Amino acid sequence: MRKIACPLCQNDAGRPVRQRIYHHLTVTTVLCPTCGLVYHNPILEDSDRQALGLSHRELHTNEAIRPRTLQRVRQRLARQAAFLEHVVQPGWQTLEIGCGLGLFSDWLNRHGCVAVGVEPDRQQAEFARAQFGLEIIQSRFEDAVIDRTCNFLASSHVIEHVPEPRAFLSRLRALAAPGGLLFLETPNILAPKVSPRRVFSLAHNFYFSPPTLTAMLAQTGWQVVKTRVFYQDSFMVLARAAHVHDIRPDPQHAEEVWQSIVRHRTAYYLRLMFLWRKIPLWRRLRMYRYQDFPARAQPIKVSV
Ligand SMILES: [Zn+2]
Repeated sequence: MRKIACPLCQNDAGRPVRQRIYHHLTVTTVLCPTCGLVYHNPILEDSDRQALGLSHRELHTNEAIRPRTLQRVRQRLARQAAFLEHVVQPGWQTLEIGCGLGLFSDWLNRHGCVAVGVEPDRQQAEFARAQFGLEIIQSRFEDAVIDRTCNFLASSHVIEHVPEPRAFLSRLRALAAPGGLLFLETPNILAPKVSPRRVFSLAHNFYFSPPTLTAMLAQTGWQVVKTRVFYQDSFMVLARAAHVHDIRPDPQHAEEVWQSIVRHRTAYYLRLMFLWRKIPLWRRLRMYRYQDFPARAQPIKVSV
C-alpha cells in the first residue's frame, strides 16, 4: 500500500467516504474535496491483494469462462459496438489493454483492423487465442513490450484497477499514432448499479465520474470527443490524441459526487434497485438508457 496525493489535482486532504477491513488490511476510500476524484488512499498494489490470497474472481481479473459470463460480455460488446459505430476503420492497428476473453478485439478484427490484445491472465489469454485466433501479449500492461504505434487503443473496465491511472493514460498516449483514438469504459461513481456495500471494492482503486476522467485524459494528452453516460452502471469515452491541457473539474463537482454516494446508500433499497437490476428487460430499457455528450458540450460540467 502506498499513500498518494490526488493524482488529478495533487490535493492530499481526501475526505473519507468509507473504511473497511479485509483480513488485516484496512482500506480507506476518500473523495478529493477539490476535484471530486474518489480513490483508495493508501492505494492498493497487486502485491497487497495477492498477500490476501484472494481469488481472481474476487479481484475481477479472471471471470470464469462460463456461458453466463460470455453472455454478459456479449451484451457489453453490443453496447460498445453501438457507441463505436462509424468510428472504427478497416486497416487500423489496434491495441486493447485487458482484452479478457477477446470478444472486443475479435470485433475489431472483423471490422478489418489488425488487433493485438494485452491480457495478464493466462487462462483468458489462451481462450482469446484459441477461440478467435487473436494475437495476445500475455503480460501486465506495465511490463509489456509493445513496438508499434496504434490508430486505436481500447481498454474496458481496466483503468479503475490500476494503481497509477495517469501513467496508464500517458503510456497509451505514447503508443498512439498522430490523431489516434482511445476508447475507455469504466464504472460511474455518480450512478452505480451495485449495492452500496459493493460500490467500493478491493479490486478497484479509482472511482471516476465523466468530469474526473475527462480531466485526467486532458492532463495526459487526450481530448474527449464523445461521452456516453448510461442511466446506471458505467460510462464510455472516445478521446483523440492531443496536446496536454491542465483541466480540472468544476469546483462544485466534488459535492455532486459526495451527494450521489450518500443518495445511493438509501436509493438502492428504496427504489428496489436490487430487484430491478436482475431483470433483463429492465436492464436493457432502463439501466442502459443513455445520454450522449458530444465534444462541444463537454468538458467538464457533465451532469447526469
Ligand atoms: Zn483532486
